[in-house]
Amino acid sequence: MDLGIAGRRALVCASSKGLGRGCAQALADAGCEVTILARTAAEVERAAQEIGARAGRKVAWVACDITTAEGRAQALAACPQPDILVNNAGGPPPGDFRDWTREHWIRALEANMLTPIELIKATVDGMIERKFGRIVNITSSAVKAPIDILGLSNGARSGLTGFVAGIARKVARHNVTINNLLPGPFDTDRLASNFATRAKSTGANVETLRAQAAATNPTGRFGLPEEFGAACAFLCSERASFIVGQNLLIDGGQYPGTF
Ligand code: NAD
Repeated sequence: MDLGIAGRRALVCASSKGLGRGCAQALADAGCEVTILARTAAEVERAAQEIGARAGRKVAWVACDITTAEGRAQALAACPQPDILVNNAGGPPPGDFRDWTREHWIRALEANMLTPIELIKATVDGMIERKFGRIVNITSSAVKAPIDILGLSNGARSGLTGFVAGIARKVARHNVTINNLLPGPFDTDRLASNFATRAKSTGANVETLRAQAAATNPTGRFGLPEEFGAACAFLCSERASFIVGQNLLIDGGQYPGTF
């Protein structure tokens, strides 16, 4: 299928690794002019070269912390007026809510709620003027089914989800869509660190925990970043212009509900 987005400018946040990188690769493969970002220059530069080599096109990069105002300004300087925005940042640490201070909550809200809202605010009017825009927010399956040790994530991402539900309906008539992708378990560094935390707190073996978790998924495995990227590229495509304000769970069928 031709996604119809060749030549579109795409800003993909937090994308030197994992799910963001999967999205960047799929958009570059679809012919977009992709800009990726992460905090460490050497890592993001290497990722841009590897993504670009596979897609057969140049991929731009910027080293910045997207959760800061300065980092967002750097990102938008590197990719002014994106047609496609993929919002992503590292997830908050797991733990017991009794240990979290107000500062922990502010950091989680900055990264996983206020940063995407700021970037939407900075880019959506240009998309409206150009009559094309696609915004995908990477949130979490925890929005639909909370994960006990990820209370900071459950809370902050639910705030973003509520905001998006309202704003997506306000911009859709201009061919600007905003949707959320909710990853279940994907085989990334983030998943590995969650297992390490759980192993430490329970005394269990990490590999045993991984194998057990994979076995409980209906597919018998974890998802791959490229599978996530393919869904993201479709949501960003011309073909997906009637998909508005949705929360698409990509979890191998792990959520047990009918809907
Ligand atoms: P990851 O750790 O594999 O990759 C995160 C990427 O973001 C890296 O490139 C890192 O350099 C970059 N990054 C982190 N903080 C940044 C910042 N402040 N500024 C710029 N770049 C930054 O993580 P992942 O598994 O790809 O997860 C992506 C998001 O999806 C996270 O918010 C995570 O909590 C969420 N999530 C992941 C899973 C999963 O199974 N992997 C499940 C649910 C939710």
